[in-house]
Amino acid sequence: MAKKQFKAESKRLLEMMINSIYTQKEIFLRELISNASDAIDKIYYKALSDDSLVFNKEDYYIKVTADKANRVLTIADTGIGMSQEELENNLGVIAKSGSLAFKKDNEAKDGHNIIGQFGVGFYSAFMVADEVTVTTRALGSEEAYRWVSEGADGYSITTAEKETVGTEIVLKIKENTEDEQYDEFLEEYRLKALVKKYSDFIRYPIKMDMKSQRPVEGSEDELEDVVEEQTVNSMVPIWRRNKNELTEEDYNAFYMDKRYGFDKPLKHVHISADGAVVYNAILFIPENTPFDYYTKEYEKGLELYSNGVLIMEKCGDLLPDYFSFVKGMVDSEDLSLNISRELLQHDRQLKLIAKNIKNKIKSLLQGMMKDEREQYEKFYGAFGRQLKFGVYNEYGMHKGDLQDLLLFTSSKEKKQVSLDEYVSRMPEDQKFIYYATGSSVERIERLPQIELVSDKGYEILYLTDDIDEFAIKMIANYKEKEFKSVSSGDLGIEEDEKDKPTEAEENENKELLEGMGALLEGKVKAVKASKRLKSHPVCLSAEGELSIEMEKILAMMPDNNNVKADKVLEINVNHDVFQSLKAAFGSDKEKFNLYTQLLYNQALLIEGLTIQDPVEFTNDICKVMV
Ligand code: ADP
Ligand code: MG
Repeated sequence: MAKKQFKAESKRLLEMMINSIYTQKEIFLRELISNASDAIDKIYYKALSDDSLVFNKEDYYIKVTADKANRVLTIADTGIGMSQEELENNLGVIAKSGSLAFKKDNEAKDGHNIIGQFGVGFYSAFMVADEVTVTTRALGSEEAYRWVSEGADGYSITTAEKETVGTEIVLKIKENTEDEQYDEFLEEYRLKALVKKYSDFIRYPIKMDMKSQRPVEGSEDELEDVVEEQTVNSMVPIWRRNKNELTEEDYNAFYMDKRYGFDKPLKHVHISADGAVVYNAILFIPENTPFDYYTKEYEKGLELYSNGVLIMEKCGDLLPDYFSFVKGMVDSEDLSLNISRELLQHDRQLKLIAKNIKNKIKSLLQGMMKDEREQYEKFYGAFGRQLKFGVYNEYGMHKGDLQDLLLFTSSKEKKQVSLDEYVSRMPEDQKFIYYATGSSVERIERLPQIELVSDKGYEILYLTDDIDEFAIKMIANYKEKEFKSVSSGDLGIEEDEKDKPTEAEENENKELLEGMGALLEGKVKAVKASKRLKSHPVCLSAEGELSIEMEKILAMMPDNNNVKADKVLEINVNHDVFQSLKAAFGSDKEKFNLYTQLLYNQALLIEGLTIQDPVEFTNDICKVMV
């Protein structure tokens, strides 16, 4: 059976394509400039193997001119141009790419900078233009041709006059509609911004006539309009330059120029990877926390370039959430793009790059922590919270990557220490990594609970950020050492035999403590003789997973379900107060109740918890005083 060819309604196809493949109209300029750059590149590559052709860089450029009065935008280049046949083939056949063919023909040489590949970009011009005119003269030819089209209806080709080799594309910009402002594509400042955004690293100058005003010579206040030709793009992608030639200032200038932040970068890393995946990247760690950083509005991501042309402004897939503070760009030739030159989702190369980048950031930060501690602490002040969230989130999936980047204030010297530093100087008899929680270092230092551990000479991590304890609980143990709150029931510290209460003492106290427990029914789970208090009479501790600090934090959340820690009131049986309590227990029930309530409320206050009835509390104090 004879095979039949598919027929396509090319008019409909073109209409569909023009209106559906691009999400933003503004990218037409990127597409036309990329084509112009390819056309110049083709001369450049030809000259490599053709001795009769000399490539003088100064002769090659792209020029963008807006004529507002006539609603005309022109993009001209001094590239290789097109013959009549090429015009017919490249602009008359949709999805035919002369550039892809050129790249294939020149595979052996280095044609890899050529951007074009799909054969559709040119038609994006019809998103903003009613009519497109292409006047072109091919390299080595005396004749010029003109291609004119109003879009889907077809095109015509006639001979034309053109003095120089190259191509000039004239767009008749559409009239504004209710929803679309086409006028913006005739505004110089807007066009310049678009060139900067998408085509900043095109290797040839993109020139524009920029209007400005300057004072008339010899006059005080009169201004005159001047037109000046400017090269708008930076041309040399800094990431393709040799690292050794670049200074700190170059990187800082790049950071400012690309508006990654309003601050200075604290640190950068320049990556030129050519292993399993080839890419260049420059990554920055900002100095300051962006004002919206810890809000939903903040959007993470790196700029993504393919061959120096911007593909995506914020590619979120390149950064894990816990490194969302990192700014910068990635450029790779290896990405699979779809025909609108957007990134294909789930691109394998992209995943590889992302993984690579994650590891680079990690080692950058680790290096900083080790060798530039002051810088690192500055960074940690700005973004440490994000790292701790990272440890906690996704059920601790990333704790392995992050735990060595954490710092906590230590009871020793009140300096920030890493977990590694803590563990490596633990005395041999110390079994746990101790921590204490509270709203500030000063507050924690006054907590009765820390007394025993401090007296033992053990270091304590002071957790002052609300996320801290959640992160610590997620890590669970570090280098085989478990974390232990100084408020936890069993501190794992051996008591001296002589300090241990005798059995008789324990029995004697048992009744009293149970009596207190009954009076505090519903408020605490138990009342116990404390093993940790030295100079303070009471404190609260928690049994089970939920600590008192965690209860406080959860209480601030909107859907907290009113979860409570299992609280234990600990009494220092060696304190004088306990003697009074004992006396009251035997003789005066009312006094015993009064003392019990007072001690419980004191313990609440020390913990930073609110007491249920402050008036009653002060009345109770008065009762003791009179
Ligand atoms: P692509 O760039 O992906 O190949 P386009 O639709 O943008 O697809 O362009 C189609 C073809 O038209 C190009 O491959 C190239 O051969 C030709 N072309 C477009 N613009 C120019 C230009 N300014 N100079 C020379 N050739 C051009
Ligand atoms: Mg193109």
